[in-house]
Amino acid sequence: MGHGTFATAINCMDGRTQLPVIDYLKRRLGVDHVDMITEAGPVRALSENRDGDVLDSIRRRVLVSTGKHRSRHLAVVAHHDCAGNPVSEAEQLRQLARALEVLAAWGLGVELMGLWLDGDWRVTEVR
Ligand SMILES: [Zn+2]
Repeated sequence: MGHGTFATAINCMDGRTQLPVIDYLKRRLGVDHVDMITEAGPVRALSENRDGDVLDSIRRRVLVSTGKHRSRHLAVVAHHDCAGNPVSEAEQLRQLARALEVLAAWGLGVELMGLWLDGDWRVTEVR
C-alpha cells in the first residue's frame, strides 16, 4: 500500500498562504499531498543566498520530501503583505526569480515553480 504522491513547497509561515498553495499544487500537479517547508518570507533568504543556517535547514527538509516522499516538484512562494519580507511586489518577484536560480543550482532533479499570491490569495504561476 502506497502513501500517495507528494509535491513540495517552500512557503511563507503566514497562515493565509497555506491552504491556497496546497489546493493549487494538488490541482495543478495531481498530487495527493504537499510537504510544506515554511519560513518567514523565504524568497528573501533564498535570493540573498547568504544565511547558511536557514538555507541548510530548508535543504534538509527538501531532501526528506524528494527522498522519502519521492516528490518531483518544488514550488517557491512569495505573497502580498508579507510581514517577514516587507518589500514591494516588484522586489518580491525579483527575489522569487533569483530564489529559483539558487534552487536550480542545488541540483535537486525536481521541476521548480514560482508562485505569487495576491491580495485575494489567488495563486499565479510566475515560472
Ligand atoms: Zn509572508
